[in-house]
Amino acid sequence: MKLIVSKFGGTSMGSAEAMRRSAVISKRQGAKIIVVSATSGTTNKLIELARVAEKGDWESSEKILFELRERHFTIGKELSITTYTQTAIEDLLNNTETLARGIHLMRECSPRAFDRMQSFGERLSSLLFTEALAQEWPEFQVKCLDVRTVLATDSIYGKATPLIEKTKENATKILGKIREQKIAYVTQGFIGMDPQGHTTTLGRGGSDYSASLLGEAVGADIVEIWTDVDGIATTDPRLHKGARAIRDITFKEAAEMAVFGAKVLHPTTLTPAMRQDIPVFVGSSFEPEKAGTWIRKEVQDAPTFRAVALKKDQALVTLSTPKMLNTHGFLSRVFGVFEQHRVSVDAITTSEISIAMTIDRSMLDHQELFTDLRELGEVTIEEGFSLVSLIGNSMNHKPGLAVKIFGAIEDVNVRMICLGASKHNFCVLVHENQGPEVVSRLHTALIEA
Ligand code: ADP
Ligand code: ASP
Ligand code: MG
Repeated sequence: MKLIVSKFGGTSMGSAEAMRRSAVISKRQGAKIIVVSATSGTTNKLIELARVAEKGDWESSEKILFELRERHFTIGKELSITTYTQTAIEDLLNNTETLARGIHLMRECSPRAFDRMQSFGERLSSLLFTEALAQEWPEFQVKCLDVRTVLATDSIYGKATPLIEKTKENATKILGKIREQKIAYVTQGFIGMDPQGHTTTLGRGGSDYSASLLGEAVGADIVEIWTDVDGIATTDPRLHKGARAIRDITFKEAAEMAVFGAKVLHPTTLTPAMRQDIPVFVGSSFEPEKAGTWIRKEVQDAPTFRAVALKKDQALVTLSTPKMLNTHGFLSRVFGVFEQHRVSVDAITTSEISIAMTIDRSMLDHQELFTDLRELGEVTIEEGFSLVSLIGNSMNHKPGLAVKIFGAIEDVNVRMICLGASKHNFCVLVHENQGPEVVSRLHTALIEA
């Protein structure tokens, strides 16, 4: 029997009905580990709770706490959960309130407290889903596993890096011979534990990543990502009506899509799957009979243009200095600064005396990064851009490619172009209010053509 790790996102956990549907799929697939996200919108609520409590606004904090209680109690009631789970849920909600009170009292929310606050979403939904699955699958023992006992990370709160060897060791110790046992473990996505025993998070949307990390740790045969769309599409279906589901795609192309903005997968989801060559399936928990997408090392077709992705909230940082002329080691110093501050660069181009890089807008608050960059040269920052990426194959070898692309967007002011670094990606930086239009035009001209 195949060892399957399945992950269900927020909308698939969003109501008792959605949980029941997800439970039917888990049983049908015979999944041994089921990773769940918080119920839709809950992580946002927990973030808001921490922020209003920190500001001293207890009235708003109470309102959010009330909403969280209502939401989870309602699902619990509709699922007719046991008193054991009912008590466990009450305990978690009380802990959420205690933490909020602590933050309110101190008027301070440390990164560690913030991660702990966000962890309550997945901890609550996993308790509820354990009940839903136990009801659906009486032939199996269904257990709720605290993923923090398995998924080990470093202590970078908010964006922790998994420690894979330790995670594998924990998985062997805690899950044992998972292949042979008639046990299904329901567990939390998004969260982990650092060496000091504190709760960490993997970054927003991180449950996909948790699933493939656990898949790697237990040597899974398949990782399944069940979401609210029928697999990976040629572009975000919310952005462009002509989007079509992709049936098969390579790891490399899907990874480019994820890194360059296709929210359907967390950017690092495919790294563990690629390391172990584990096929990843993406399907809709609302329409499980639809075909979905398979992501594998190799697939039959290799179209030049497979998909278009949009990455919003980009800031353009330009570093200029005559010191770059005829010197070596300059780029390494620049990247050293980004590495030291753990800020990732999305796209980059260089000239003789300047480097232009795009980073996420949220990184602009990182004053120390810019202080250190200014030591190396003159820094200018421009905001309000989106990166539109065309993802496909052999893009660095195709004659006439640029004409096709720019022909479709000839009247658009393109601020930066990146081609050549990857044969799977061609991206253009455009003003944010033109992003969706550029996606549509490129999709219509190059993918629907
Ligand atoms: P989940 O809560 O299940 O993790 P997400 O909201 O994180 O779901 O991801 C699913 C969403 O990703 C879809 O509803 C869709 O709008 C968006 N999306 C962006 N790009 C794509 C794409 N290329 N294919 C499919 N969905 C995409
Ligand atoms: N609940 C987390 C979030 O909203 C993780 C996830 O959904 O993957 O970001
Ligand atoms: Mg997601």
